[in-house]
This record gives sequence, C-alpha cells and structure tokens, in this order.
Amino acid sequence: MKTLYGKTLEELGEVCNELSLAKYTAKQMADWLYNKQVSTIADMTNLSLKARETLSNHYRVGVEKPLTSLTSKDGTRKYVFKYGEDVFVEAVVIFDKARVTLCISSQAGCKLNCAFCATGQSGFKRNLSSGEILNAFRSIDEHNSLTNIVFMGMGEPLDNWFAVYKSIQILTSQWGYALSPRRITVSTCGILPKMKSLLEDTNCNVAISLHSSDSEQRKRIMPVEKSYSIADVVRFVKKYNWLGQRRLTFEYIVFEGFNNSNKDVAALCLLLKGLNCRLNLISYHCTNKSFALKGANHDSMTRFRDSLTAKGLMTTIRASKGEDILAACGLLSGQQSGKR
Ligand code: SF4
Repeated sequence: MKTLYGKTLEELGEVCNELSLAKYTAKQMADWLYNKQVSTIADMTNLSLKARETLSNHYRVGVEKPLTSLTSKDGTRKYVFKYGEDVFVEAVVIFDKARVTLCISSQAGCKLNCAFCATGQSGFKRNLSSGEILNAFRSIDEHNSLTNIVFMGMGEPLDNWFAVYKSIQILTSQWGYALSPRRITVSTCGILPKMKSLLEDTNCNVAISLHSSDSEQRKRIMPVEKSYSIADVVRFVKKYNWLGQRRLTFEYIVFEGFNNSNKDVAALCLLLKGLNCRLNLISYHCTNKSFALKGANHDSMTRFRDSLTAKGLMTTIRASKGEDILAACGLLSGQQSGKR
C-alpha cells in the first residue's frame, strides 16, 4: 500500500485529486503528518469519516519504528531501519554539549565507492524515498531534542537529489516541520550537475568531501574525481556568496604521509583561497584491512591543523564519536546491522 509520510504539500494535493477529496484536505494531512505526528489515518480526526475511509483504502501513513539501536560508550547512538527484504539503513545521533545532531542516510549503500568508506565498499542497493529518509528523523527517541541534521550517513545525497530535496522541503516548510535550513547540512562529494539546485533551491549549509587537493591523489581514494574534479567543484562554489549565515565546510580525512605534507598545506590554501569556509579534519577509521593508507595520529593531525591555521585557513579537528558501534564517519554499511 502507498504511503503518505514523505509527501510534499503539492503531492498531498495530487492525492486529493486522485481520490476526489476536497482540496483543503492536503493542508490538513500535512498538519497531521508533520506537526501533530500521527501514525494512522484514523487519527486524522478533522477529516470527515468518509475521507479517512477513502484514504485508508489506498494509503497508510508509513512511519516505521527502528529495527534496533546501539549506544556507544561515548553516548553516540546508532539506529538501524529495515526497509523491505535485506535493505538495512543506519542513522546516527551524536551528542556534543547542547548540540544533538542526526546523521541521516539518503541511499541504501552508495555507488561512489570511496576507498575509505564502508558504505561504498558494501555496494549500492537502492535510493531511499523521501519518506524513508525522513523516517529516521521522525522515529527516533531523540526526535524532539534534535538541534541539527546532516545528510552525511549512507549514500551520496546528490545522487538521490529528488528525494533529498523533497525531504529538505518537508523539513523547512511552514506546512512541514518548519526547521531553519541553517540547522541542516548537506554533505556531498561534489556531484556538479546537482550542485546548482543545492545552492540555489535550498539555504542549507554545505559540506564538501575534499580529502585531497591533488587530482591524481584524490582519484586513488575517490573515483568520483574522474567525473567531477575537486578543482571544478571549488571553482563552481566560488561563484556563490558565502559571507552570509550559510556555512561552507570542506571535509578532509587525514592519512599519514599521503595528504598531510607541507605541499598539501600549500595546495589546500591555494585551492580554497578567497572562500569564506572552514576545513574540518577527520580521523580515518579503518574499514578495509587491505587499504594501504593509515590514519594520522592526534599529534600529526594537530600539527597539520596548526600549519593550515597559520596560513590563514580556518581549520578544526572533528571529534571522533561512535567508533565502537561502527557509527563513526565512514563506518556505516548496513550490512553488520542486518546480522545483529
Ligand atoms: S564517503 Fe559518501 S560518497 Fe563516498 S562511498 Fe561513502 S557514502 Fe558514498
């Protein structure tokens, strides 16, 4: 049976047309789905009994509880959702003082095959619908205390842009969850054909997976560089104004002896020159024993950060969380979860 959760106001209007329901029913449904957060059509009590019956014959709300959850010793929580046969999708809640961030998935698996990422190594199963994407936001215990959402879990959000864009519309519209787009970040490797829509049709923060400013080096760990080079991606984002409240971050996993030399410092500063942005250094979590690169240790990361900061590039080290439950950056795969 088809589901209502995850439909935009416009799509709910199409449901009304399809079932010959009054036009205003679309707004009422959006209010029940995203404001009053009901789980059944029977709970939509300001719809006429006949309208509820007609809707129930064709649709259900479609909110799914998580299959399971795991809590890390540092408090990070990983949720696992099952969407059909053998499709496991994970979401992670990270606590940092008053900040409670949900890391949300957009695909079951990923096609981009980054060498350092468990999701990429597990292959691609399918795109998630906007309802499945938002279900992770709606169905977790921390729903009411979340302060931030990042599209940074399993999958490349711009490779499933239609569903991710709809999710953002529902999260930020007044008829939806009415969240500020400043609380939402979309993380991407830089899928250029969809970047324009991300930058012009939303006001969300943007994070770009950089990991190396050298094209040949980046190709070794991120095959997407062959289609959309980081030089072209940075050239593209430089056309936009980043002096307002919207944040631009570049993510950079530090591999010892690979991308943390003085030459890399100079190349990064040159690449990002003139951009009001931040570089976020990330620890590597080993996902593949045959992968030749090793993560830099804390001292090495600190040295690298200080060299970049001294050259005027705002650089931070991201605290690593949830490694013991395979919830840290690059460790989500959905495969282990299914076997638990
Ligand atoms: S890092 Fe992101 S884009 Fe790369 S394989 Fe993993 S999920 Fe896909």
